[in-house]
Amino acid sequence: MDKRIYLSPPHMSGDEMRMIKEAFATNWIAPLGPHVDAFERETAEFAGVRGALALASGTAALHLAGELLNVGRGDLVFCSSLTFAATIAPFYHKGAECVFIDAEPGSWNMSPQALEAAFDDCARRGERPRAVIIVNLYGQSCDMDPITALCARHDVPIIEDAAESLGASYKGKPTGMFGKFSIFSYNGNKIITTSGGGMLLSDDLEAIARARFLSTQARDPVPWYQHSMLGWNYRMSNVLAGIGRGQMRHLDERVAARRRIFDRYVEELGNLEEVDFMPEPQWSVSNRWLTALTLRKTRPGSPPLTSPSSISPSFISPFAISPLSVLDHLADLNIEGRMVWKPMHLQPVFENARYYPHEEGRDVSADLFQHGLCLPSGSGMTERQQTRVIEALKEMFVKKRR
Ligand SMILES: *Cc1c(COP(=O)(O)O)cnc(C)c1O
Repeated sequence: MDKRIYLSPPHMSGDEMRMIKEAFATNWIAPLGPHVDAFERETAEFAGVRGALALASGTAALHLAGELLNVGRGDLVFCSSLTFAATIAPFYHKGAECVFIDAEPGSWNMSPQALEAAFDDCARRGERPRAVIIVNLYGQSCDMDPITALCARHDVPIIEDAAESLGASYKGKPTGMFGKFSIFSYNGNKIITTSGGGMLLSDDLEAIARARFLSTQARDPVPWYQHSMLGWNYRMSNVLAGIGRGQMRHLDERVAARRRIFDRYVEELGNLEEVDFMPEPQWSVSNRWLTALTLRKTRPGSPPLTSPSSISPSFISPFAISPLSVLDHLADLNIEGRMVWKPMHLQPVFENARYYPHEEGRDVSADLFQHGLCLPSGSGMTERQQTRVIEALKEMFVKKRR
């Protein structure tokens, strides 16, 4: 059997080991140290923000953003529905009321018109959210201009979950600079990794200092152990920050490699009538963290299907292909693919949450879940490996046609 092709495995450059050795040589094996300081500085500079705080995970960064904005029990937060559960989990645990906003078809990210409907509806009820949490899905920015304008009009801060979009940009500006607070993740499957880690970013240096305090057990500044409040132990280790610095030097190449992989999938599979690739609006340069596509619901020219009442990824298109059947076929050939995130408003845990679709009767994120899938996209994937994936898909689509 051919060697397994993973969805998005770590891709080391060689520089990381030098940085790790430096940490060992100087005995900075601690959740602070020169690599941590430098990683924060280099990342803030890269994203064009004033402050950054290196943390144990992207989820920890989201949690601290919620702390800094005082999100508490009963507070409303708006959040993109089409995302990984880590985006919303810290707010759910704080007891916030999570309200979900649909995606728009052009970017697969938060729909400005659904956001506007949510704001209007809340205004009618005399409510205002504490924060709007946006997500840059699969490495693509949200449409920030209309979203920022809406949030400014309602005076609500933005938390930008840029966990997947490090290296991407919106109208020439890097993602990670658009939120009152923004976060990156360096989990093992992301575009660059520290094996596990995250970053909180903001122009508000006082808030970053506060987050630093909260992330190091919230000790009062006195010579003994005293606490006026309690915090968390959320810092990134100096060894892992060394890996991050080594990875960061190659980020541009990693983005170029993933974009090249995306382009080749489109070149080879884009003319199949069964598939549509995730679009990239003209204001976006995605890092193409994962190549995502949808299986067409209808043959071109035939009337649109109405949405089935029960949403499931085993949906069969008129081409007799479901996302699950494609993933099964790939798995048989030792290739790892993935479903598109199951939207939060369809999760059992959020059964009763409020949800604002893109349009009345049109649930874009449910549709993307039902028809979408992600292909192996690791920046270290060889041309031959990608050929294996492409051939596997072509074979399947052509066979089903007969
Ligand atoms: C990976 C990811 C996170 C969580 O980051 P961790 O570093 O794994 O905690 C949050 N949001 C999104 C959209 C992610 O993809």
